[in-house]
Amino acid sequence: MHAVGLMAAPEMHFLLVPLVAQGHIIPMVDLARLIAARGPRVTILTTPVNAARNRPAVDAAANAGLAVELVELPFPGPQLGLPEGLENADQMVDRTMYLKFFQAIWKMADPLEEYVRALPRRPDCLVADSCNPWTAGVCAAFGIPRLVMHCPSAYFLLAVHNLSIHGVYDRVGDDETEEFEVPDFPVRAVGSKATFRGFFQWPGVEKEQQDVLDAEATADGMLINTFRGMEGAFVDAYAKALGKRTWAVGPTCAASAVMGDADAKAGRGNRADVDAGHIVSWLDARPQASVLYISFGSIAQLPAKQVEELARGLEASGRPFVWAIKEAKADVAVRALLDDEGFEERVKDRGLLVRGWAPQVTILSHPAVGGFLTHCGWNATLEAISHGVPALTWPNFADQFSSERLLVDVLRVGVRSGVKLPAMSSTGVDVGVQVTSEDVEKVVAELMDGGTEGVARRSRAKELAAEARAAMEEGGSSYTDLGDMIRYVSELSRTRCHEKKASSTSLPSMATDLGSKNGHEKIEADAALSVHS
Ligand code: UDP
Repeated sequence: MHAVGLMAAPEMHFLLVPLVAQGHIIPMVDLARLIAARGPRVTILTTPVNAARNRPAVDAAANAGLAVELVELPFPGPQLGLPEGLENADQMVDRTMYLKFFQAIWKMADPLEEYVRALPRRPDCLVADSCNPWTAGVCAAFGIPRLVMHCPSAYFLLAVHNLSIHGVYDRVGDDETEEFEVPDFPVRAVGSKATFRGFFQWPGVEKEQQDVLDAEATADGMLINTFRGMEGAFVDAYAKALGKRTWAVGPTCAASAVMGDADAKAGRGNRADVDAGHIVSWLDARPQASVLYISFGSIAQLPAKQVEELARGLEASGRPFVWAIKEAKADVAVRALLDDEGFEERVKDRGLLVRGWAPQVTILSHPAVGGFLTHCGWNATLEAISHGVPALTWPNFADQFSSERLLVDVLRVGVRSGVKLPAMSSTGVDVGVQVTSEDVEKVVAELMDGGTEGVARRSRAKELAAEARAAMEEGGSSYTDLGDMIRYVSELSRTRCHEKKASSTSLPSMATDLGSKNGHEKIEADAALSVHS
């Protein structure tokens, strides 16, 4: 990544406030790097546990000359009875903790306000994850322009929006499985309430859901981690529906800083539970596109009986695989399957198990990897797309079913595993085994071979990867959108500062204070530089 015209004096200042969940922090750290590479200074605000996980990535960016820093805000979990140190959604051992977890997140407004109040100058912009609506009040009080960052696909955002405004969710009521078609949608999309559930669309979090909608409605604009070449129709329709300026700035994982730096790749989001070098050597010894990588992301946990079916299917498939099996950390039955019942020993010549956090982008970027059995988290989906790896889709909850539809039906770079419902019903009932070992064997063969269709799928995946990377390069659509966003914020910050001048709570604007030479004109100069260099 080149730091276009980075100057010694700080210029515009962005605050980034990610949701404390891996699938939200990782792209926000990428975004911080991308914004800083265009000139502004960026501060990522998160809790101590999450700061520690991401410090190596942020330090690496700072050492590369980017003005990026991490600042810790205390996590109010213990005030609500959550254990000390529980600060990330992937630490939630029990789903009954979720309500308190989100209530604690909402309480982060107080330390955020304290932080902003102590700053010598008002920041120019706060970018908040869409699930952090509690930032809105702080921004309003200090006159800070606020953008919402969406971490799921534009497909999902538009589908949920249309289903809500056309009253489809209300019509089906409690029936989770009644099928419907998404109205007024750029493509035909059929599903049920269970597979089109929006964020915070569960009983008990109605207030939180309303806060999210309100904060989105009052935001100064939206960022979506996607690119126009792939999701332009969904991005435009969503922007129009909300009447908001919207910038598609992804896939952030395809930025050359993430793709090109081996350490940055291996340490994304957390320290891996296995040496990345060992995995790379293991993959080096395998033929091109022969290995299946399996991961269910940071949160979804398969029940032991489903893990067993998957294990038997992988064994029967006879193919090499790398399996990030985080269930082995806490689930005694899964450990027994791997150890006492000898699964790991039986497949040791062709199966590599990572019992915890895997260096996912390192794995996906290796040429030996030819398929990705994924839970279809949006980041995993973008990572598969950016690396040209066809997907075997196994969604678990939330937006994951939409990512499956996009991968299989729209982009045609995926094969379905056969999952029909979220792994847990909305009332917390485990739906049990949905994919048997025979199914696994069959769909793995289809993905990894698949005859003529398999070859065509692989070729489409490679083309899409090239488009994704091009979008992030200088002159690409996401690169351009990011520049537009920075220019827009620069103007907005200036205006907001004038509007706020009379208010006693306002802090002076950094950009205005430093004068247009160092602040706003600098961005324009950068933009000109980037066009002409
Ligand atoms: N991830 C990783 N190693 C793992 C599991 C996940 O690096 O063992 C990363 C993955 O590359 C992605 C993020 O964590 O960037 C997970 O986000 P996603 O949206 O895919 O799923 P979620 O965890 O939110 O369900």
